[in-house]
Amino acid sequence: MKKQATVYLTVIVVAMIVGACFLTTLVIGLVDDVNPLPLDSPYLYLGLASVVIVCLLIAVLMCRHIVRRIVEPVERLTEDPEDTSVELYRELEPVAQTMRAQHEEIVKNDRMRSEFTANVSHELKTPLTAISGYAELIASGMGSPEDQKHFADEIHRNSNRLLMLIDDIIRLSELDTAQIQVDMENVNLLEIAQSCVENLKASAADHKVTLHCDGKPAHMKADRTMMEELIFNLCDNAIRYNNEGGQVFVNVSTNRGVVLLSVKDTGIGIPKEHQDRIFERFYRVDKSRSKRSGGTGLGLAIVKHVAALHDGEITVESEAGQGTEITIAFK
Ligand code: ADP
Repeated sequence: MKKQATVYLTVIVVAMIVGACFLTTLVIGLVDDVNPLPLDSPYLYLGLASVVIVCLLIAVLMCRHIVRRIVEPVERLTEDPEDTSVELYRELEPVAQTMRAQHEEIVKNDRMRSEFTANVSHELKTPLTAISGYAELIASGMGSPEDQKHFADEIHRNSNRLLMLIDDIIRLSELDTAQIQVDMENVNLLEIAQSCVENLKASAADHKVTLHCDGKPAHMKADRTMMEELIFNLCDNAIRYNNEGGQVFVNVSTNRGVVLLSVKDTGIGIPKEHQDRIFERFYRVDKSRSKRSGGTGLGLAIVKHVAALHDGEITVESEAGQGTEITIAFK
């Protein structure tokens, strides 16, 4: 790139300078009646050749200088986009901004990926350690028959937890891949919400929570399975982070062509300082409550992904001790 630019610029400048020299000499020689141009004199050609060589040198030096000034900041930026000592010329500023934003994104994604790997290992290790411990107790024949049953129950509970975790991790990594297949079709979001609510009635009854679903038919282009997943995760949270005798209201509506889905509960709420972080992978406000209620810490990360794939904008309104309302506006 640098070499090519130098060559082009050199050729153009040399051509212009040499052309100008020839023209000037010829015009002077031709116009001069007293001393017409001695076209047979070797000095004329020697003089012209030296002019050409000098021009060539000047042109090469100028071009090198110009190209270096253009390319150097770009090279330095490429090496380290965060280097603020790079002197930018006006035309390069938007490019530098884009490069810096991209670099920040790469660094952030990289940090998230390594945090995620560390978290996954930790999350998988906990139930596996429990399973291994209880299995060892059973194998050693320790404890009464009731204890043995308790050990077996714990193994069962922890293996279910492992399976749930693995399911969510696989789902997230599928959603992460750029080529994820989104099967867009015409769906009625109210119908999907009603069917999700129906499927969660038993779980709600276990938690002594009442589920309601209302609204108007709302048609949109969406991946049905993903929408089911999204509504399921929101409702499941609204049930699990609720109080006995609590309520969950699912509402679907349309406002000026925007389909709105809202899941509101009368549960424990989310303190303000946690509200921005609950969509991060494995982020939990109350870790033990999440684990006790069968949470993986990945439900809202999946919701965020699915919403993004459908141009959905998420808003959270919550008050600790009062309840939470999560709304998604699909544009
Ligand atoms: P989990 O599997 O732990 O529920 P999520 O990703 O679904 O993970 O949610 C992240 C955290 O956000 C939860 O651990 C919980 O602390 C908080 N949270 C999510 N939904 C609600 C809700 N409706 N009410 C109160 N807290 C919630």
